[in-house]
Amino acid sequence: MGAMPSSRARVIVLNAALGPLDYRVPHGMTVEPGSIVVAPLGPRQLLGVAWEADRLPTEEVGDNRLRNLASVADAPPIPEALRRLVEWTAGYYLAPLASVLRMALASTSALEGAKLAIEYRATGVVPDRLTPQRAQAIERIGERQGIVRELAAVAGVSDAVIRGLVKAGALEGVEVDIDQPFALPDPDHGPPTLAGEQAEAAATLRQAVDAAAFQPFLLDGVTGSGKTEVYFEAVAAAIAAGRQTLVLLPEIALTEPFLKRFQARFGCAPVAWHSDLRQSQRRRAWRAIASGEALVTVGARSALFLPYPNLGLIVIDEAHETSFKQEDGVHYHARDVGVMRGHFERCPVILATATPAIETRQQVALGRYAELKLPGRYGAAQMPAIEAIDLLREPPERGRWIAPRLVTAIDATIERGEQTLLFLNRRGYAPLTLCRHCGHRFQCPNCTAWMVEHRLIRRLACHHCGHVIPTPRACPECGEEEHLVACGPGVERIADEARTLWPDASVAIVTSDTIWSPARAAEFVARMEAGEIDIVVGTQLITKGYHFPNLTLVGVIDADLGLAGGDLRAAERTFQQIMQVAGRAGRGAKPGHVYIQTTDPAAPVMQALVSGDAESFYAAETEARRDADAPPFGRFAAIVVSSEDKDAALDAARAIGRAAPQIEAMQVYGPAPAPLAMLRGRHRFRLLVHARRAFDVQDAIRDWLSGVEWPAKVRVVVDVDPYSF
Ligand code: ADP
Ligand code: ZN
Repeated sequence: MGAMPSSRARVIVLNAALGPLDYRVPHGMTVEPGSIVVAPLGPRQLLGVAWEADRLPTEEVGDNRLRNLASVADAPPIPEALRRLVEWTAGYYLAPLASVLRMALASTSALEGAKLAIEYRATGVVPDRLTPQRAQAIERIGERQGIVRELAAVAGVSDAVIRGLVKAGALEGVEVDIDQPFALPDPDHGPPTLAGEQAEAAATLRQAVDAAAFQPFLLDGVTGSGKTEVYFEAVAAAIAAGRQTLVLLPEIALTEPFLKRFQARFGCAPVAWHSDLRQSQRRRAWRAIASGEALVTVGARSALFLPYPNLGLIVIDEAHETSFKQEDGVHYHARDVGVMRGHFERCPVILATATPAIETRQQVALGRYAELKLPGRYGAAQMPAIEAIDLLREPPERGRWIAPRLVTAIDATIERGEQTLLFLNRRGYAPLTLCRHCGHRFQCPNCTAWMVEHRLIRRLACHHCGHVIPTPRACPECGEEEHLVACGPGVERIADEARTLWPDASVAIVTSDTIWSPARAAEFVARMEAGEIDIVVGTQLITKGYHFPNLTLVGVIDADLGLAGGDLRAAERTFQQIMQVAGRAGRGAKPGHVYIQTTDPAAPVMQALVSGDAESFYAAETEARRDADAPPFGRFAAIVVSSEDKDAALDAARAIGRAAPQIEAMQVYGPAPAPLAMLRGRHRFRLLVHARRAFDVQDAIRDWLSGVEWPAKVRVVVDVDPYSF
C-alpha cells in the first residue's frame, strides 16, 4: 500500500471533471486508503474516496493551502482489490476514476447512519378533493411503497402532490428497518443429485473455489444441460467457506425465476441488486454487501462494482448476452470487467453460456480460460429439432406473418394441450407507419428512427429516446385520414394474428412493455406453469432463463432481422439469439420443435442452426474475424462525437480525424455518420480506430485526444471494444 502521511490524504472526489485533490486530515480523524470521506470543494461538500497517494500523481500542494476533510463516512473503506479494479477500468475504458467510483458507492444514502426510513403506502382512503393528478397518482402507486420522491416518480406527479396525499390521508407513513439482517443461505439445504458430467464439472468448480485463486472458467453447456445446477455447487462451496459470491444476470426480469431456484437450493433468497430497488432496499443491500454479511448477491451489471470485502466467486450467467455491454456513462463490458475483478480478488470466475462469444472461445483456445462442457440436456429431455421455413417458397397468406407450415405445427401443439412460443425481437405493433397517399413516414424528431406503433396504448413511440405521440388519425402532411398504414410486424401484430387464427387460445405478449418488474415476471411464470397461456409472443426477453416443460414449439418469425446492417458480429449474434430461443422448446419430457422463418435458408448461420453443427459455423466465423483482423485478433475503439449543433459536431470530428497519429499499428476510419446518426436530439459522427491486439490503443487515444480541443457543446465519447464493428 502506498505511503500516505497521516496528516494528508489524496482523494478522488466524485466529480468527473476534477482530478485527485489533497486534503488535510484533522486531528482525531482516521483516514486510510479506501476511506469514504466528505471533502469540501468551494462552498460544497463532495463525497470522495481516499487513495494511495503514490498511485495518483498530482500537483503537490503546500500544507498551508490544504483544506480539512469534513468527515469520514460510517461505512467500511473501499477494499484494495476494488481500488485496483477501479483504476484498471478507468484506464482501459478511458473513463474518469470518479465515474467508475460512483458505481462502487452506488447509493450515497447508504453512507448515512440512519437505521430507520419512513416510506409511504396507500391506505385506500379516497381524498375529499380528488383532482385528476391525485387520481392518477393513487392508481399508479397501487400497492407500491417508497419515499416521497420514488412515489412521485412512479406516479408521474410532483413531490407536492404526494405530500398532499399524505396530508389527505390517502397515503400513510411506515417505518422500515433498513439494518435488518439478510438470511444466511445454507449450502446443504437442497443439494441436487448430479449426473455424470455435471458432477465432474461441479467438482472442478468446488476445488477452484477452495483454492481461492484466479481462474476463469467457460461453463459451456447446451440449454437445459444444468449449468445453473452446476454453478450452484460452486456457490455452495463459497458459502461453506464463508466467502461472498456475485452472480451477474443479464436482465432483472430474469431474477425472479432465478430467485425461486436459489431459494429451493439454499433455503433463502440471495441479496438482489438492480436499478429497480427502492432507496431503502438499496441502502440495506449496499451495507450488507460492504460489511461482508451478504454472502450471495445476484444482480445486473451494476452489481459488479460494489465493495465486496471478501469475494470468493463470480458467476456471469448467459455470458454471451449483449446487455452486459454498457453503452452509456462508463462504456464497459461487464463480462470482461468481471474477469478482471476475479483477477484482482484472486477468485474463480465462471462464464456460463450455451453460445459463447467468439472472444470467449478464443480465450479457451489460448489456454487462459478452462473449459467445462455439458454436452447434453439433463434427464430425459432432448435437444429440439430445428427446421427452416423458406419464406419465399412457402410464404404466409397475404397480410399475415406466420407461414402455413408453422400454422399447422401450432394447430397440433394446441391440440396436444402444449404451449407455443413465437419469437420476434421487435416491440409494439408495427415498426413504421406510412401515409399511402403522400408517402409521409412518421419519424422521431430527436433520432434517426421510425416511430413504432404501440396499438395497445394507442401511441407511436421512439425506442431510442422515448418520444411518444398519440397514434394520429390523419396524415400531418396531406391531411388524409384513410391512408395511414402500419408496415411490418411487431409482437403485438403477431399476437393479433394468433388470436385471429386461434380464437379459443390464450395469447400473452412478453416484452419490456408487459414485464417491467420482477413481480410481473413472476406473474407470467405462474400463468405459464398453470397452463393458462397457450401461445406466448415475445422479444429477446423471453429467450433466456425460463424453463417451461410444457413449451414444446418455438417459431422464429423473422430470423433475418438481426442480419441486416451487415456488421461483422451479425451472424454470431443471430446464431446466439436463435439457439437461445430454440432452447426454450422441449425442456421437459416432451420433445421440442423449432421453426425458423427466413428468406435465406442457405445462409451459413441458418444452415448451422438447422444442422446443429455449431463447431463448423464458429470455425468459419472465427476465420472471417482473423481475415478482417477483427476481435479477438485485432481490436477496435469507436470515438463518437456528438452535439445538438450538427456543424459543431462535424467540425470537431474532422479536427479529431486530422489530428490522428499516422502510425502503422493503428488505422483511423471516418468521421462518418454514426450508426444512429441522430440520437436524443444530438447529431453523431463516429471515427473507428482499428489496431493490432498488442498495441496500447488506450494510450494512443489518450495522447491523441489531449492534443485536440472542441467547444463545450460537443461531447466526445470513446467506446473501447465497441459491440458492433
Ligand atoms: P441450463 O442453465 O443449462 O439451461 P438448468 O440448470 O436450468 O440448465 O437445468 C435445466 C432443468 O433441468 C432445470 O429444471 C433443472 O432444475 C433441471 N436439472 C438439471 N440438472 C439437474 C439435476 N442434477 N437434478 C435435478 N434437476 C436437474
Ligand atoms: Zn427518438
